[in-house]
Amino acid sequence: MAQIRRALLSVSDKTGLLDLAKALAAQNVELIASGGTAKTLQEAGYQVTPVENLSGKGEAFQGRMKTISFEIASSLLFRREDPQDIAQAKDLNIEPIDLLVVNLYPFHETLAKQGGFQECIENIDIGGPTLLRAGAKNFRSVTVLCEPAQYPQFISEFTESKGATTFEFRQKCAAQVYTMTAFYDLAIAGYLNQQAGAGLRYGENPHQKAFVLKDPFQEGLAHSRSLQGKEMSYNNYLDADFALKTLQDVHSWQGGKALPTAVVVKHNTPCGLALAETPLRALEKAWKGDEKSSFGGIIALNFPVTDELAAFFSEKFVEVILAPSFTDSAREKLKKNCRIMEVGTQAKNSWQVRSIEGGLLVQQQDTFDLSNMKVVTAKTFADDKKRLASFAMLAVKNLKSNAIAICSQDGPEFELTTMGSGQTNRIDCIEKLITSRLEDKKITDVSEVVLASDAFFPFADSVQVAAKLGVKYIIQPGGSVKDSEVIAEADRLGIAMMFTGRRHFLH
Ligand code: 5GP
Repeated sequence: MAQIRRALLSVSDKTGLLDLAKALAAQNVELIASGGTAKTLQEAGYQVTPVENLSGKGEAFQGRMKTISFEIASSLLFRREDPQDIAQAKDLNIEPIDLLVVNLYPFHETLAKQGGFQECIENIDIGGPTLLRAGAKNFRSVTVLCEPAQYPQFISEFTESKGATTFEFRQKCAAQVYTMTAFYDLAIAGYLNQQAGAGLRYGENPHQKAFVLKDPFQEGLAHSRSLQGKEMSYNNYLDADFALKTLQDVHSWQGGKALPTAVVVKHNTPCGLALAETPLRALEKAWKGDEKSSFGGIIALNFPVTDELAAFFSEKFVEVILAPSFTDSAREKLKKNCRIMEVGTQAKNSWQVRSIEGGLLVQQQDTFDLSNMKVVTAKTFADDKKRLASFAMLAVKNLKSNAIAICSQDGPEFELTTMGSGQTNRIDCIEKLITSRLEDKKITDVSEVVLASDAFFPFADSVQVAAKLGVKYIIQPGGSVKDSEVIAEADRLGIAMMFTGRRHFLH
């Protein structure tokens, strides 16, 4: 528990301020406040120490300077348990501040009411985030509230414990501060980028504005430079990201000795994927994976683009080619409207962030791990079939759910033969997409391919359809309540099946 004796309040939104002041006054906490906040408190009858008593200076520059000062930051930041800091605070005449209550200038509201440029700039809070970040860093001793929604819980915890808060509460509050300042700065960055004319031509559709925010702490696609062709579009970036992630999976699957690999992506979906003994064969096989869809696709390669490969594209239309390098003459040969990008292919284990209404969803990247792969049927897999099964799992991992991949092998070479993805049920994926695509490609013998599913089969029906097609090998995560029925059906139909224990939904 950390006892609160002095509080600094500097709030733009005065909601709930007086309830808070009442609870603090009841425990004899000293209230220190900046101009407008002090006025509201004093008008309600509270005794307030003006912030300038601590900083030694009054507000300046029309309010741009209120609380930014050595003394105030020190009061929040010095370590309360550390003898050296305690001695120094004493020398410098710094008294601790134990509770900080700040909410920021209404930058978002100013944007929402379409305030003018100068009004938006004035609503960039500087002192507030400085205080918040200082207090939050010292959450071991300092409680920091950054929005009125936190007050009720604080008041009840503080009142019950007669003027203190718990470590857990303070830590949660600190996390909330950094979330708050991150979103606040993101809004400012978005606004200034837009004002500066930075951005993509448009978003997913021509009427949508869009820009790329590059994470300065990361490398990767967002930081890659387009060497040639039109600038990358929003959709190009999305597709390129899917292509590179697939390539990264292939690299970790190959465990170092990377065979030439090519991926073709359309609409976030790898429709062609092949590893071969030569770059040209990898490219040809990936392209033929789904020739109809490859037109206008995004191509990611793990080998340099030479003249010979550039010639492959001479009669074809592709949006983007991503590769580790391009020879000068290959660049000459490639059509000028084809975007080409030099990119590395190293996987990075960063957070994956997607927006939803009112916030962001954050998760770790989905990773590939087949260490728990096991045969569950009477019929087994030869070693090379196990290798093909693991490749098929890699392929299906990168397809939108519900997904099925059919993969084949020719000596050391592997390819995605056909796939079905983005279906609202698994059985349609096999019954409709896979069946018709095999017919399209005139593939009748599928006895040596492996069929992979991104998630378990909820019923045995998918196994029945696979058997009707002539499939003999299936790999899937397992984990359904009906697993035993599914296995029994595979046994009855002479199918060999493996479970991996790891699901790969991709939504
Ligand atoms: P008050 O209404 O108390 O005068 O001002 C409260 C607002 O000022 C809060 O939103 C707080 O984040 C912000 N603020 C506090 N200190 C400073 C400062 O030194 N400079 C600027 N620009 N804003 C500050």
